[in-house]
Amino acid sequence: MTIISRDDRDGIAVLTWDQPGSPVNAANRDAVAEFIAAVRAALDDAAVSGIVLASAKAGFIAGGDLRELLQVTEPKQALALIAGMLQIKRAIETGGKPVVAAVNGATMGGGLEIALACHARVADTTALLGLPEVGLGLMPGAGGTQRLPRLIGLEDALPMLTDGKPIPAARAQELGLVTDVVERAALVETAVALARVTKPVQPWDADATQGARVLSEAELALLAAADKKAARRAGAFDVAELRILDTVRKGLTLPFDAAMALETETFVNLAVTPAAKNRIRTMFFAINDAKAIRSRPAGEPPYALASIAVVGGGTMGGGIAFTAAMSGLEVVLIEVNEAALDRGMTAIRATGDRQVKAGRMSPEKRDAILARIRPQVGYDGLGDVDAAIEAVIEVETVKADVLGKLSAAMRPGAPIGSNTSTLPITRLAGYCARPEDFLGTHFFGPVERMPLVEVIRGKATTEATLARMLDLLKRMRKTPVTVNDGLGFYTSRVVASYTGEALTMLAEGVPPQLIDKAAMEFGMVIGPCAMADMTGLELLIDILTSAYSDAERTSIQGHRSLEALKRLVAAGRTGRRGGAGIYDYDENGRAQPWPGFADLFPAESDEPIQAVVTQRLMHPQALESARALEEGIVASATDADVASVLGWMFPKGSGGVLSYVDTLGAARFVAECEALEARNGARFSVPANLKAMAATGARFHAI
Ligand code: NAD
Repeated sequence: MTIISRDDRDGIAVLTWDQPGSPVNAANRDAVAEFIAAVRAALDDAAVSGIVLASAKAGFIAGGDLRELLQVTEPKQALALIAGMLQIKRAIETGGKPVVAAVNGATMGGGLEIALACHARVADTTALLGLPEVGLGLMPGAGGTQRLPRLIGLEDALPMLTDGKPIPAARAQELGLVTDVVERAALVETAVALARVTKPVQPWDADATQGARVLSEAELALLAAADKKAARRAGAFDVAELRILDTVRKGLTLPFDAAMALETETFVNLAVTPAAKNRIRTMFFAINDAKAIRSRPAGEPPYALASIAVVGGGTMGGGIAFTAAMSGLEVVLIEVNEAALDRGMTAIRATGDRQVKAGRMSPEKRDAILARIRPQVGYDGLGDVDAAIEAVIEVETVKADVLGKLSAAMRPGAPIGSNTSTLPITRLAGYCARPEDFLGTHFFGPVERMPLVEVIRGKATTEATLARMLDLLKRMRKTPVTVNDGLGFYTSRVVASYTGEALTMLAEGVPPQLIDKAAMEFGMVIGPCAMADMTGLELLIDILTSAYSDAERTSIQGHRSLEALKRLVAAGRTGRRGGAGIYDYDENGRAQPWPGFADLFPAESDEPIQAVVTQRLMHPQALESARALEEGIVASATDADVASVLGWMFPKGSGGVLSYVDTLGAARFVAECEALEARNGARFSVPANLKAMAATGARFHAI
């Protein structure tokens, strides 16, 4: 099986990478071995005066094989994976023959690193160049941290290394990362011409110091600012961004080969850290599986959709309608009257305008999307729509009325989803003409940005209905996680345990600043007290009252969250919108400590240390997830992990809420919960599955 083919054009060897049977050129062991052999042969061939590296796929060369990297448990195994590539790149650079990369489409990670080792790079107009390793808890380990800043300067290289966001070809040309940008048809030809005139010397090999230099004051300031940002983003798990910065800072002052040795050493150690494993497992493999709906019921035929109905054009319904139209579906948007329709359409147009303003779409694309949304009052003409999602207000009588009329108007077999946050799906199914066509589709706002949809199977939901709804969600580019019905489904139930514990600490007189600081330093994007104020404390009373309506539930034994909320509301403190909640708010809406807090909530004991506050906030989420797993609400630890990082932003470096238990070790986690239970009550009691894991040393994930 040939992966790399060679075509000599008047002394220029064009090596084209074309992995058979794969949409991308994955740099796995076999492919890398063939690449090395092909490059060596061309370098050694006296008839070859220059080399072009190209791809026959829609993208250039994808990075290293993450499946191979995930298996690695020791630094020296990671080194074995990359050593050959490191050597051949130095051979390319110092072999005396010009080597030019012809890059197209996705040119990411290891792919870009190969291009960086070439003496020149040409891109086609589709090229997207980036080093996304940081998002996987890794760093570029094949020269990226050293070649990129030496080539384009520290200031432009740093954001690429630390944010991991790719840049388009035109920007790469501005930065000097590629010399030319041409149409795809002219790509290889341009590279061949360049290989005839390019000097086969890298800037860092042009003198004896190999580019070693002293960093300027301005560069040191840039690095210091980047360090600060990285430390803030690191949370309790992530180390990659800080290591990247450190490697860049030290590496630039060293001769190139010594700098490469430093990068290699740092990379192989980083590759075996828990955060790298966690991120690769969850952020790459698990999320890609969910996006590709690999858990779709087997044997159900694909469901082709052309149109859907969305009932309720408020915050959520508007976002759902916009996202569906964005995926090319015709959308019927149904509201209760013309005035509500107008309000809904105005908000949808504003969503479109925001996308244009943020540069995410062209005005033409926005207009085409809006043209696909047809507003109407009532349920006429729904016999042909292929699916529907209900997103009316969270009032059961209203949902009952809407679902009855909607299901009667639709054809049998067309799935109907409800975007309820709390109402049991099996109960709502009773209002439908055909309960078997019905299920829950719990979106997260803002819908056009948040990928997760929690899909809830009711008792009567058929496999066909589930498969069809998953096909719709895939079409809408969502990341669905399917769960079984139960109070608070999966996500709302876990979030309630987290918010509940934060508010219970408030009731005990623990300062909100300490609670939020603990959450943020763990890696949450916002603290639970600030979040409560944003939600609004009165609404939160409603949400938690409903979430806690099963008095038997372990997670609410002894909690005092409603007590804390009611005391706040009675004192006239309703949240951020009202200007005063758990915090005070200045005229710019910024939170300030509220001096009256200690009077309303006198401290009941000594202030806890931050580590204990962190445990009290985070452990309940893992406990509640383990209980949901035991009860069969959530199907796997992987599903729980995906829902947690996408749904309520549990830190990515933890790998998700149950990977977090693996990261700590089940024995330690259980021991900490037992100590918490002794002090705080039965809501910290450990379910049997976790106890067994602690006893045997088992993990939720093998790696
Ligand atoms: P919203 O108040 O913004 O919108 C509800 C819309 O439903 C309004 O436009 C209203 O006019 C319309 N409506 C009311 N009665 C109707 C009827 N009989 N027929 C047609 N339309 C009718 O509410 P929202 O925040 O969009 O929430 C909608 C649903 O989504 C609720 O079930 C809510 O619990 C759930 N949800 C909300 C969020 C969130 O963050 N807002 C998140 C997940 C789920």
